[in-house]
Amino acid sequence: MQLFCCEVLPHLWGPTITGVQVFNRLPIIPLINKIKEETMQNWQKEWEECSKAEITKKFLQKIQDRQNLRIEIFPVFTAMVTGHGKTRAYLHRFKILEKGNCPCGDGDQIIDHLLNRYPMLNTQRVTFKHNVLKTGIWPPKEHDIISKHLKPFLQFIKSINFELL
Ligand SMILES: [Zn+2]
Repeated sequence: MQLFCCEVLPHLWGPTITGVQVFNRLPIIPLINKIKEETMQNWQKEWEECSKAEITKKFLQKIQDRQNLRIEIFPVFTAMVTGHGKTRAYLHRFKILEKGNCPCGDGDQIIDHLLNRYPMLNTQRVTFKHNVLKTGIWPPKEHDIISKHLKPFLQFIKSINFELL
């Protein structure tokens, strides 16, 4: 990005009465804000176009939203929003397990399975659902889980013991 005073300033401050504004000092705060805004737009574009992080992009669609959140980060949280955890499907992907299917018999043991179908979490899921329905719909979209139902989601995933999956 290239910024020149003559390009940036009229945009930021609008035209003057005479149509000519002369500055002898660089207006640093508007300039920084402009750079931050464009950087955030570029970052968001890169995030959306990136071919990786498919699961994380469902949970965290907007870079700005993520920056505004104060999220308690711990291994199970990371596993749930990235898919990089000790699920059977993940361990199978890296050839640690021969198969990635869940012992419950309902398909691969992926994050969506743990969130929505894994029977061993039914009791915890009922509580999660009850709390989500207080303010939203069930099942919630992944990005709504983070932006609107973070507290019950954290409560739910803290009940997951990956060693027992
Ligand atoms: Zn299962």
